[in-house]
Amino acid sequence: MISYTCDLCGKTMIENDPMRFVVKIEIFAARDPLELCDDDLIDDRREELAQMQDVDEQLYQSHRYDLCGECRQIYQEDPLFRSKLYQRPRHSDN
Ligand SMILES: [Zn+2]
Repeated sequence: MISYTCDLCGKTMIENDPMRFVVKIEIFAARDPLELCDDDLIDDRREELAQMQDVDEQLYQSHRYDLCGECRQIYQEDPLFRSKLYQRPRHSDN
């Protein structure tokens, strides 16, 4: 039987545990993928385009995490950790 460990709290989970969840995160450049036309292949843009493609490939990151049910709930409520990074005083209407 395959077992998994929650990547946040360390809890052990079995393969078909109904409270095991997977989080997949991809980080990549926001621009559209390069689409080359015939002119790009003929003129001097080849090197520039190759560099842009290299940068895109270097910046791409993919992560996969296993979470237990409790950690899934915590993660889902604040996936970008905004509450920890940007703690702003809340204004009261009183
Ligand atoms: Zn957990």
